[in-house]
Amino acid sequence: MKQLQKLLKQIDGKSYKAYKDIQGVYSFQTYSLSIDYVQGDPFAAPSKIRIHIPNRQRDIHAAWKKTKERRLYTEDVFARSVGKAIRKQSSSIKGSGKSGNISVDAPGQEILERTAVQLKDNELVVCLSIGLPANGRRINGKEAEKLFFQLIPSVMDASVFSVTDAMIEDNVQLADQHVAIRQAMKENGWMTFVADGSILPRESGISNRPMKNAVPFESPEENRVSIPIPHREEPLTGMALKKGIVLIVGGGYHGKSTLLKAIERGVYHHSKGDGREYVMTDPTAVKVRAEDGRQVTRVDISPFINHLPHGEDTNQFSSDNASGSTSQAANVVEALEAGAQSLLIDEDTSATNFMIRDERMQELVVKEKEPITPFVDKVKGMRDELGVSTILVMGGSGDYFEAADEVIMIDQYLPYNVTSKAKEIAERYPFHREQEGGNEFGQRKSRVFQPQSLNSQRGNKSKVQAKGSATILLGRTEISLHYVEQLIDTSQTRAIAEVLKHLEQKGWLKRGMSLTELLDQIEEQLDNQGLASFTGFKNQHPGDLARPRRFEIAATLNRLRTANVKQ
Ligand code: ADP
Ligand code: MG
Repeated sequence: MKQLQKLLKQIDGKSYKAYKDIQGVYSFQTYSLSIDYVQGDPFAAPSKIRIHIPNRQRDIHAAWKKTKERRLYTEDVFARSVGKAIRKQSSSIKGSGKSGNISVDAPGQEILERTAVQLKDNELVVCLSIGLPANGRRINGKEAEKLFFQLIPSVMDASVFSVTDAMIEDNVQLADQHVAIRQAMKENGWMTFVADGSILPRESGISNRPMKNAVPFESPEENRVSIPIPHREEPLTGMALKKGIVLIVGGGYHGKSTLLKAIERGVYHHSKGDGREYVMTDPTAVKVRAEDGRQVTRVDISPFINHLPHGEDTNQFSSDNASGSTSQAANVVEALEAGAQSLLIDEDTSATNFMIRDERMQELVVKEKEPITPFVDKVKGMRDELGVSTILVMGGSGDYFEAADEVIMIDQYLPYNVTSKAKEIAERYPFHREQEGGNEFGQRKSRVFQPQSLNSQRGNKSKVQAKGSATILLGRTEISLHYVEQLIDTSQTRAIAEVLKHLEQKGWLKRGMSLTELLDQIEEQLDNQGLASFTGFKNQHPGDLARPRRFEIAATLNRLRTANVKQ
């Protein structure tokens, strides 16, 4: 403590670079503080520090670390508390640039594995970013003293040292419940579960928080299940959708997309009070949409698209400007390649000609002149041959009645099971349209990305950087992830950027692995060595990272405009 105070006095008024002198570890009353990285100037990316709280100062019960999930949910409580304490602090520290700023990579509505707070064997580690105070470009030692000796201690007091055991136990119980629901889903072959009482709509198009006064979810009788879960007397009831083909229908603006969105997000776990804390979906479910303009590199889209006008090969289809239908076909095939067991599709974000093709159109434009075999003719093949399920929102056409195993109608935000009615209607008005393109789907081979795909050189420097939540800069190439809808946290995007950098630096692509094998290896390292192992700062503040799924990592590689895939 004394030593840091002394150093700050010494460098006060000097040029900003002298701040580098304070890198190191300092012990405070209730924690030690390591200054890992010092920013180059007051306007640059902030400095990175870690606070180490020994277990004798904040007791961590062994029970909270008993399972992987419990550990993660305990870290989540602390990370949220630090975030909240920082939001409530009004910093009196003044100066140029980011002087006196303090931040933590606090969780959003989801509970993700992240680097912000880590439970280690004997201590709790909190990663913070701070702006070291300056006047112009000169060090302001006085304000820095305030930052280290007043602001940070008071943030710690209001968070880590104020979190009660009860708060942690509450979240640990939620962890157990989530594990139990997932277990029940696996045993019963359910791809999604939406608990009664869930609040699905969000506050607004730009807010992920629950809508106030929304109509709570109520399961249709036919799909109602009851799951006994720990730490709760009554079993949880709700709607379970079995693996297979599920069609969601209903009038416009009645809440179809809202339900699908909640299902999409159910691959992640949500925090208490979110309204979706008991909405869970097969973790391998992938939202598939049209995405015209995207890059596609040697993807076998031939189940859906054949004989293109210029005789382009659809067994290895490439385009740097894919159309609505070809991009959606590529998104399907790529999701399967990455290991998706469920696909989620919304009419709002689909290419119509990819989804349906009716009898009249079949007569006018004969099959020989239409390269597209619509999804409706392949959805059963995917289920029967590959065991891949689909949940589909389609309010505008009855073409999927035959294929669907279940039809759920949303009426005024509430679901009803209308399967038998839909089947009866399908019989009454039989299809005259022809099944196209054959039933079979066939296994696809996973592609091999070549080392030259990844090139982070920019001038004579290497640069891989996440820019916001939906863009990654790899050298001179910009990768756009705006339509990768299940990428939900900027820290996931940053983590993917770190993964790409790691793959390049360690020459992973030189090993000739298929994309599937590559994703397996990445997940194995994430499981065994953690997120930080993909950075150069394993034993420092590793940056603000959250764990991405393999599907979003694959989606990034798939959108690389410099991708080079082996023939
Ligand atoms: P659809 O896809 O059927 O056209 P949306 O899912 O887009 O309908 O929902 C239409 C509107 O209704 C949205 O503004 C949404 O926020 C709102 N909404 C959805 N579900 C509920 C609910 N349970 N309670 C209140 N409002 C809801
Ligand atoms: Mg909709």
